[in-house]
Amino acid sequence: MDLILRNANLPDGRIGVDIGIEHGRIREIAHGLVAPAAQEIDVRGRLVSPPFVDAHFHLDAALSLGLPRRNSSGTLLEGIALCGELKPQLTQDAVAARALAYCDMAVAQGLLAIRSHVDVCDDRLLAVDALLDVQRRVAPYLDLQLVAFPQDGFYRSATAERNLLRALDRGVQVVGGIPHFERTMADGAASVRRLCEIAAERGLLVDMHCDESDDPLSRHIETLAAETARLGLHGRVAGSHLTSMHSMDNYYVSKLLPLIAQSGVAAIANPLINITLQGRHDTYPKRRGMTRAPELIAAGVRVAFGHDCVMDPWYSFGSADMLEVAHMAIHVGQMTSLDGIAAAYAGITTEAAKILHLDGYGLDPGCRADLVVLQAADPFEAIRLKAARLLVLRAGRVIARGAARASELTLPQRPATLTLEFRPGSI
Ligand SMILES: [Zn+2]
Repeated sequence: MDLILRNANLPDGRIGVDIGIEHGRIREIAHGLVAPAAQEIDVRGRLVSPPFVDAHFHLDAALSLGLPRRNSSGTLLEGIALCGELKPQLTQDAVAARALAYCDMAVAQGLLAIRSHVDVCDDRLLAVDALLDVQRRVAPYLDLQLVAFPQDGFYRSATAERNLLRALDRGVQVVGGIPHFERTMADGAASVRRLCEIAAERGLLVDMHCDESDDPLSRHIETLAAETARLGLHGRVAGSHLTSMHSMDNYYVSKLLPLIAQSGVAAIANPLINITLQGRHDTYPKRRGMTRAPELIAAGVRVAFGHDCVMDPWYSFGSADMLEVAHMAIHVGQMTSLDGIAAAYAGITTEAAKILHLDGYGLDPGCRADLVVLQAADPFEAIRLKAARLLVLRAGRVIARGAARASELTLPQRPATLTLEFRPGSI
């Protein structure tokens, strides 16, 4: 072996196991592994997890906070206006520099795979070229997947369709959309159909911003599920946000959930952003806005949780910490059962990896040895503490180290009941 991590706790509840790594891949996981190794690291009962995966992000906007000015109201509308003000001033180098800075931040947090939407409504395709370049540069240490995102509306913007196709021709891997932002419900539905057809023709994945509103009658997820079934895109499509589902009629949702599950469409909620941007027209009671994550999981729909924004026109906070995302998901979605906590952790690791179709992800022998050693005994403690990342490994090589925090925050004894294993359809 090239490396053995000894005495590791795993997210599925296995305790004190050894992980043998050879040629950048996990070779064997066992108790008391006996094998010669060039290097051994005793992680002393800490959680060793596959890396965090962010299923929904905007890398072209990240870290632009304050450019050209701060969002004084904190609303989505002022954020969109700010984005428009910034666009003419952008350069490819500036977008790439911010994106690379964010990728460094991500690696330090054990976040080694990001699906980022990239705006294709700028005729220069400046952000597309910048992020394709960044994708190549970070590939040795971070999997960056790009979604062609017609941010100003696929039919609302005169050149969006042409630009989206140009972006796909240049190598962007996923087809995006924003049907609730089109001028009419009919235009929105037509955009979903056309975009799914483009994905089917080209053999690509789909991930649309879908129903990101408080309108209980915004029903593009229904069209997305129906188009997925019609075109045979099962397992290759995700609906992001789906916040309108929070406000929909319960009877309608009871019919909608099985349709989403049967069509194999995944759902990606963005709890930090949904709780801050939705419900802004409400007085009290004020809606939370996040989609019905526990109910989707119970219906058998694959659910991931994304960060969406970090220090950009829409959201001033964030630090590439997916544990903060899971923490917020649990609170907003009241996912405090043990199954709920396990599902939240899966939503920032294994379930997100499946939505991205990541190759070689996980803790099975043969998987790439991408691992994070956390200062926590299990996923519950990791989420509770937003635990320090002590070591981050990529293909069996340590690429980041973090300092441990004061140990008084952890329990002296691990409670016996805290085995968290996510089972699809549970919760
Ligand atoms: Zn988004």
